[in-house]
Amino acid sequence: MATIKESVDLFEDEIIAREYHAVDRQYFPLLSSRAEGRIAITNRRVIGRSEVKVLGGKRVEFNAVPLDKVQGTCLAVGHYTSVRLLIVGIIVAVSGVSLLPFARWPGAIMLIAGLLAIVFAFRREVQIGIRAAGIVQGGFISKAESKGYLLLRFAGFAAFRVHGPDVDAVMRALDAVILAVQQRGAEIIKDLKCPNPGCSYMTMIDDQPPKHCPECGKAWRSK
Ligand SMILES: [Zn+2]
Repeated sequence: MATIKESVDLFEDEIIAREYHAVDRQYFPLLSSRAEGRIAITNRRVIGRSEVKVLGGKRVEFNAVPLDKVQGTCLAVGHYTSVRLLIVGIIVAVSGVSLLPFARWPGAIMLIAGLLAIVFAFRREVQIGIRAAGIVQGGFISKAESKGYLLLRFAGFAAFRVHGPDVDAVMRALDAVILAVQQRGAEIIKDLKCPNPGCSYMTMIDDQPPKHCPECGKAWRSK
C-alpha cells in the first residue's frame, strides 16, 4: 500500500511530522484478508488510512481529525476471544464426536468445523482512535463535548499477524507526538525539513536528523 504521503492530497502548507505503518497483514484466500493501515500526524490533521482486500474486492477507509480538536488518544492492541464462536465451536465439535459411531463422515466434518471455529475464536486486533471535541457532524448545535473517533481498526485470527512494523511505536508515542506537534508545530516542522530551500526532503519527528540530506547532499543544521 502507498504511504499517506503518496496517497492523500495534503494542504499546501501541510507537512507530515510522523507516519506510522500500524497494520500489515498478508492475504490467505478464504481464511483472511490483506490489510494495511497507516496513521500520519501532520501540522494540520491526524490521518488514518486503511486498505483491506478480501475475496470479493477492496475497501479503502480514510479518517481525519483536525489537529487542534484532538484531546487524547485511545489505543488497543492485542488478543481477544470471541466467546460466541468458541461456544459454537465446542458444541459443533462435541456433536461431531458423538455422531462419529453412527455416521462417520458427517461426524468427522462436524468435528473439523468445530475445531476450526475454536481456533478462529482467538483473535488479534489493532484499534487506534482519538478523542476530539467540538466537531459537528451534520447537526445544528456544536457541543464542546469529547468524542472518540476511530482512525484505524483491524481484527483478525490470532493465527495470523495483524500488527504492522510501527504498532509498538504507536502505542509508545502517538500521544506525545500529537502533543508535541500541537504545541510546537511550526518550530518542529522547520527542524524536520532539509535546510536547502529548493529540496523537499523531510525527516520524521522521532528520527535523528541525518548528517547530510540523502536527496540533495546538503549538510543538515546541527541542533
Ligand atoms: Zn535536501
